[in-house]
Amino acid sequence: THFGYKTVREEDKEQLVGSVFRNVASKYDVMNDFMSGGVHRLWKDHLIQTLNPGPNVKLLDVAGGTGDIAFRFLDYCKKVYGANNTASVTVVDINPAMLEVGKERSKRFGFADSGKIFFQEGNAENLVNIEDASVDAYTIAFGIRNCTHVDRVVSEAYRVLKPGGRFTVLEFGQVENPLVKGIYDLYSFQVIPRIGQIVAGDAESYQYLVESIRKFPPQPKFAAMIKNAGFTLVGQGWEDLTFGVAAIHTGFKV
Ligand code: SAM
Repeated sequence: THFGYKTVREEDKEQLVGSVFRNVASKYDVMNDFMSGGVHRLWKDHLIQTLNPGPNVKLLDVAGGTGDIAFRFLDYCKKVYGANNTASVTVVDINPAMLEVGKERSKRFGFADSGKIFFQEGNAENLVNIEDASVDAYTIAFGIRNCTHVDRVVSEAYRVLKPGGRFTVLEFGQVENPLVKGIYDLYSFQVIPRIGQIVAGDAESYQYLVESIRKFPPQPKFAAMIKNAGFTLVGQGWEDLTFGVAAIHTGFKV
């Protein structure tokens, strides 16, 4: 095992995840670019394309961190709907340090007092401040695998969505192609922690991130969880991105 993360107990996971994102918050955005060679940007753009929001959509972006999904969503709606755009987004995250970076960026991007973006501290497993059937769309990008009880996250998403609403998850997946998997494993276990050490001075947090990816259920199993929570899947329920390194899962509350 690496640094003992593989044996982390369930009751310790929330604390561990808390310290990981406290450690990485200020370097989070630049690290994503470093580690993925910028590809996370394409995946996130594709998430918004898949979501295909209408002009009045009220989005809840959970585990929204520094706002990457929220800003893309707002840019998209502004560009596509112009003056008819009344879309808005609430970013929920459990980690105040990540939200602080998000708020700073929101000022920098000119959204701070737009009335279109709101930041809220909260737990994806128990969204106490979000009412039943109150949002049109729910996104969670690279967040759900950090949660202790994935099933609770999915059922909370179901609860807060309006009928007709859409649940969309962007998450790392399992790579099936053996050749690609060989390269990907080498990169994940050898290169990423070293980049973490050099750029953020923190190999262990990135080691955790790599290991959390391997523990998350493979695409068919996660799609089945979404279906079991009551969502209606479209087709098989997910789309692989970059050989399944990431995947977009989606379901409708009908
Ligand atoms: N969605 C952003 C993105 O794609 O850039 C941030 C993803 S980041 C890898 C994961 C985020 O999940 C962190 O900001 C972390 O604080 C948050 N998080 C972890 N557990 C959570 C929970 N139980 N509820 C809400 N947010 C959580």
